[in-house]
Amino acid sequence: MAEALRAWARANKEVVKVKQGQVVQVRVPDTRHIITSIKMLRSKKASHTLQEERHWLYISVPEFDRKDVRFYLGCSHCGTRSNIDINVKYKCDACHRENVNSSPRMNITFEAIDETGSYTFTTFTEDAEKLLEAKATALHAMSLEAKQSYLTERECKLRVATTSKLAQQHLYHAVEFLSGF
Ligand SMILES: [Zn+2]
Repeated sequence: MAEALRAWARANKEVVKVKQGQVVQVRVPDTRHIITSIKMLRSKKASHTLQEERHWLYISVPEFDRKDVRFYLGCSHCGTRSNIDINVKYKCDACHRENVNSSPRMNITFEAIDETGSYTFTTFTEDAEKLLEAKATALHAMSLEAKQSYLTERECKLRVATTSKLAQQHLYHAVEFLSGF
């Protein structure tokens, strides 16, 4: 992590320059993974945020609070919460599919840090699985003690996107994780 943060700091001068060209930046195909900072995210105001904005961050998650990792059952197709027993097939009222499975889902609220600050992000089942490096189905079946072993410190490259304005508690949410730098 320390080495990666030093590299990040070296690159930071360029990131600051790139900020001037932000409007152009979001329309460039996202192959270069321009890295920004939590400080920059925190400086953003909803009214100045582009709808399709995406950013990459190098972050670490020092610890997960177990109560912020929430498990529930939901539609295997659209993820909408269900009150159906696990692995029972049903017709989903939300996506209108027949024969969906009531499957383990999860969401996680976590605090990420980099050298410039901290930010609370939320992430949902498929991305949450990447963050914890475990499937929701497997975690769901584990004891609390076994689950705890997955809730250890993480370092990763995180992609964030603007949250829809209606639901926003925080302006950005996590949309993609790459482990290792
Ligand atoms: Zn559904």
